[in-house]
Amino acid sequence: MKIIILGPPGAGKGTQAEIISKKYGIPHLSVGEIFRENIRRRTELGLKVQKYVESGELVPDEIVIKLTIRKLMESYGTFGGYILDGYPRTLKQAEVLDKSEVAPEIILSIKVSEDECVRRLSNRRYCTKCGATYNLIFKPPKKDEICDLCGVKLIQREDDKEEVIRNRFREYYLKTKPVLQYYRRTGKLFEINGEGTIDEVTHRIIEVLKSIRTQNL
Ligand code: ADP
Ligand code: ADP
Ligand code: ZN
Repeated sequence: MKIIILGPPGAGKGTQAEIISKKYGIPHLSVGEIFRENIRRRTELGLKVQKYVESGELVPDEIVIKLTIRKLMESYGTFGGYILDGYPRTLKQAEVLDKSEVAPEIILSIKVSEDECVRRLSNRRYCTKCGATYNLIFKPPKKDEICDLCGVKLIQREDDKEEVIRNRFREYYLKTKPVLQYYRRTGKLFEINGEGTIDEVTHRIIEVLKSIRTQNL
């Protein structure tokens, strides 16, 4: 299965991609997470993208496209599928991906209102060691602001501050919304109601994936 999961910032893409990845045994690829890890390790890539990521702007296509296609080819070669979170975010990214050997078969569009996204993002907490994501209200860690998996203190992402959230939404409406239009025309786009609990949303995604598999038999 080659799956893409799209949606506004805070819609729950990363959360759902992680669950689907475990359930179906396909690797979860998050471009945002690759950038955050590189920023943390102060690699050449990290230094190049830091100013964009931390101000909530999209990283330029020249940097994102090559990197993502390479990672997808690796995942596809080894596991025969992927679930990709947060890419493509521009029409150019979508066009290049669709011409590649790793073109997606299923695009899931997670629909959540902007108010609900902002509520989720302002309570999001993040583990810089393992990349795990929590939510103080909706998915709290067992111990106060400590990662369940590695015991380190959780932080608020630099781009989850209020003024940066606003920039990310501006980028989303301007550059990523047209990508949804583009995929709608291909018939590969499936809309998922992303409101409700994490379990409810997972359930809706699984139902859609099951129905697609049945049709293809
Ligand atoms: P995205 O990858 O789309 O930016 P995340 O998966 O990181 O979104 O989710 C954003 C925040 O909302 C996180 O704190 C996450 O724990 C929380 N979250 C995810 N799905 C839900 C949901 N269905 N209901 C409430 N909170 C959620
Ligand atoms: P969210 O879905 O919550 O906005 P991500 O972790 O997916 O967060 O992305 C964080 C940041 O990484 C983005 O604001 C942007 O700067 C950069 N980024 C991630 N994916 C892309 C992409 N496909 N194209 C350009 N920049 C990206
Ligand atoms: Zn951790």
